[in-house]
Amino acid sequence: MIDLHLHTTASDGACAPATLVQRAWMSGLRTIAVTDHDTTAGLAEAARAAATYGVRLVNGIEITSVVDTRDVHLLAYFFDPEDRALHDFLRAQRTDRQERAREIGRRLADLGKPVDLTPLLDRAAAEPGFSIGRPAIAQALVDAGHVADRNTAFDTLIGDGRPACVQRSGASPAEVAAIVRRAGGIVSLAHPVLLRDQASVPTIASALDAIEVVHSEHEPDDTRRYRATAAALGLAVSGGSDFHGETRGTRAVLGIVTLPDDDFAALETRARAVKGSSR
Ligand code: AMP
Ligand code: ZN
Ligand code: FE
Ligand code: FE
Repeated sequence: MIDLHLHTTASDGACAPATLVQRAWMSGLRTIAVTDHDTTAGLAEAARAAATYGVRLVNGIEITSVVDTRDVHLLAYFFDPEDRALHDFLRAQRTDRQERAREIGRRLADLGKPVDLTPLLDRAAAEPGFSIGRPAIAQALVDAGHVADRNTAFDTLIGDGRPACVQRSGASPAEVAAIVRRAGGIVSLAHPVLLRDQASVPTIASALDAIEVVHSEHEPDDTRRYRATAAALGLAVSGGSDFHGETRGTRAVLGIVTLPDDDFAALETRARAVKGSSR
């Protein structure tokens, strides 16, 4: 079984990379990708654990791009994590995340809901590979007693369009795709069902290599629709659970939402073609 969308403590997941790989193996997964937000810091530890368990680890990442001031998540696979330009781009993304966390902290204070983000910012300063995400800020809001749970924090304060959500500027999907392809990888449009503007799905995807058709938030109808979109555009198909740990209300469970073998084979063929043409 295959799951190409998993998070670790290198970004906003609950499991350390080695623990995640062990749990993936126990759930029956044999090919996985660790796809932390804007960081490859979890890949080395995941690769060591994958070798121990006989799990195939595909190099992966989830990169935030921006379209019309809205975040659009992209998944990249099969790239060289040592690529200099990719490395520099990701470091800038993480610095931007630190700035954004500070700005969210200022807004929360203005809203009368101050939180202490010092431990989070200190970790980011000490560990350059660590990627700060809003779930940690949601947790800080819970810890400070301002909200009952993390989902409420998103719904009322820091979710997209809420008062303490900071709009971003950043690279377009096409710009991200160019950087990833130069590093020998391919790019898939992550969880398209979460995009507010569904009409933009084919436009955005046409600059990429694949669409994430299989995802925990996709109903069977969504899966069929996006598979048809991918076929119409001549794109490959990716998929995975988007597991972040056992957070309340999550539909992402290990070993349940998996990518069919044929889709993975086609994705890999596509990656080989990109590698061949970028040389
Ligand atoms: P960030 O990378 O800081 O933009 O945070 C994005 C992450 O926050 C996503 O990957 C989810 O794990 C989580 N997230 C985003 N929106 C929500 C929401 N409305 N409710 C709960 N979690 C969310
Ligand atoms: Zn996340
Ligand atoms: Fe995402
Ligand atoms: Fe994700």
